[in-house]
Amino acid sequence: MRPSLLNPLFAEVEVLRGVGAANARPLHRLGLTRVVDLLFHLPVTWIDRVRVEQLDASDAGRMVIATVTPVDYRQGGPRGPFRVHATDADGNYVSLTFFRNPAFARKQLPLGEPRVVVGKLETYGQELQIVHPDGIYPPGAAPVLPAREPVYGLTEGVTNARMGGLARIAIERAPPLPEWIEPSLLAQRGWPAWLDALRGAHADPADAAARLRLAYDEVFANQLALTLVRASARRRRGRALAGDGRLRAKLSLPYQLTGAQARTVREIEGDLQQDAPMLRLLQGDVGSGKTMVALMAILTAVEAGAQAALLAPTEILARQHFATLQRQLSGVGVNLAILTGREKGRSRDGVLMGLADGSIHILVGTHAIFQEAVRYRDLGLAVVDEQHKFGVAQRMLLAAKAERPPHLLVMTATPIPRTLTLSHFGEMDVSRLDEMPPGRQPVETRVVSLDRLDEVIAGLGRHIDKGGQAFWVCPLVEESETGDQAAAEARAAALRLRFGPDKVGVVHGRMRGPEKDAVMDAFAAGRMAVLVATIVIEVGVDVPNATLMIIEGAERFGLAQLHQLRGRVGRGEGSSVCLLLRGSALGEVTRTRLALMRETSDGFRIAEEDLKLRGAGEILGVRQSGEAKFRLASPEQVDELIDVATDDARLLIDRDGGLEGARGQAARLLLYLMERDAAVALLRSG
Ligand code: ADP
Ligand code: MG
Repeated sequence: MRPSLLNPLFAEVEVLRGVGAANARPLHRLGLTRVVDLLFHLPVTWIDRVRVEQLDASDAGRMVIATVTPVDYRQGGPRGPFRVHATDADGNYVSLTFFRNPAFARKQLPLGEPRVVVGKLETYGQELQIVHPDGIYPPGAAPVLPAREPVYGLTEGVTNARMGGLARIAIERAPPLPEWIEPSLLAQRGWPAWLDALRGAHADPADAAARLRLAYDEVFANQLALTLVRASARRRRGRALAGDGRLRAKLSLPYQLTGAQARTVREIEGDLQQDAPMLRLLQGDVGSGKTMVALMAILTAVEAGAQAALLAPTEILARQHFATLQRQLSGVGVNLAILTGREKGRSRDGVLMGLADGSIHILVGTHAIFQEAVRYRDLGLAVVDEQHKFGVAQRMLLAAKAERPPHLLVMTATPIPRTLTLSHFGEMDVSRLDEMPPGRQPVETRVVSLDRLDEVIAGLGRHIDKGGQAFWVCPLVEESETGDQAAAEARAAALRLRFGPDKVGVVHGRMRGPEKDAVMDAFAAGRMAVLVATIVIEVGVDVPNATLMIIEGAERFGLAQLHQLRGRVGRGEGSSVCLLLRGSALGEVTRTRLALMRETSDGFRIAEEDLKLRGAGEILGVRQSGEAKFRLASPEQVDELIDVATDDARLLIDRDGGLEGARGQAARLLLYLMERDAAVALLRSG
């Protein structure tokens, strides 16, 4: 239960004076439903006002307070702006410009009478102008304006002044809280106490110490929660799995493990031999060979007498993993099964029985494999593939499912920048496959305007004539529910007209499973030359003979996504090409992004860039929730603070694992305040 000290903060905004059902609505639209949301809705920027005696172009761009006298009105055409020409005491001109409501302007700015005008000074050709002044006052009546005004994120129905007022009322309700930050850190950084930091951040958005302290609170809470997850998971006894190598010896590998694969396999073996459950994140770029590492881990578990499960994010990928494993394990003498939402009736019952009696050693599937009805005789290892949507809450659930928690290996599809790894997977140890299998040819990447579609299709024709295969990816169409499907169908229809109906297949998210399989199978077997697809092929699909990737509307994808898609080609012998088809009117940023794709195939570099340009959600594939992870800390602040916060969280848990001491108690409050309190439950039960 949340400590009662915090209750005033978690009350609905309607408890604040002056806030009722009607005027709370715009606040709700901004996601501000509780007092704490107002507290944490920090100003996004500020405006500094300067009092100027003489109007001068050197002040252009600044918010000025100036006394001027209107001398002339000009109406610029029937629909043009209304301008009031005015002069300062020295006779310098400024044009006060109104695009609407000239009558108001005339009334507020009578000719010949001095007025105090507040607004942003700009240059307009040779002239100085202020468009729609923020304030116009008779000289004696001008209010005392603070030199710096915070600017809040707003929506229709709530003004900046009101938002500032609400923040002040919310702060009045906030209790002082005991300090959870390590005293020496606080002193060294010169950070204010929590409540002072809140006051400071709202009163003066440029107060860097206040902002940074609040950012730290949030990052620290996050790392503390992850550390608690780790501590609690590791406290529960799992089962030590020491493989004897007998199954692995029967694998006939067509290649040698890369150095990175071999190293990672050793790290995993080391973890499995402990009875504290493994929590390991395996990062490797597309094509780095994560599946083989997973297979080694799985066989190790089975050698030790346990069962293993491999979770894939999509049906297609689950089936592909199943097929690959079946092939690789044919002479090994283990029992493999698949379970997805599609297995029903008898075949599903058969799998459930085999899992319960232990006759099935390895299960591959989608989320269905962790449903309530699925009972394992002895699940020793769970591998989660390409599944960054598998959040910390789900990882906690998985650990809780088994009587003895299984060892856990999570494999990410995209290289994840270090900061994100720490903030999203901070409870895990990390292995990196930083070496590609030999013989990989870099994929030649070209950015081509959609205007040249005819040439692209002609090129595709030549590629097919030579026996090549190609992917053609269509973007999601956000505006309409079925738009992406329609776009893919339309593209496929056009290509069929050109190349013949049998040459072109299409898969999209709205197709039924068996239909999708049939198309994928035909493509993988080479019976089909072009696979038109929506983003469903993003992860994992392996068709080495496909050496041409065409991505339509490339500017609409994230870089990490483009990198994933491009990783679908360049897997076989031949050299591969990726064409990024772009729209015609692109902004500077978009051009730069696409150019980066041409320039590098380094997944980590691409991910770093995407993090800067589009935020965490893009890389982690959790657009909204990933973005929402931090609301006080900017990405730059997370970057700056994460190491200290991680160390500090670990130190605190080492010293006071139950969070019982004075600082521990304060840290509990912080977890509730930052709504990371699921971790507190772990404390109690642990
Ligand atoms: P990802 O890391 O993207 O999941 P995969 O496991 O699908 O990569 O491997 C990509 C391709 O590389 C597969 O065709 C696989 O058989 C092959 N591969 C994996 N390891 C090696 C290796 N050590 N040497 C050569 N090829 C390898
Ligand atoms: Mg893979």
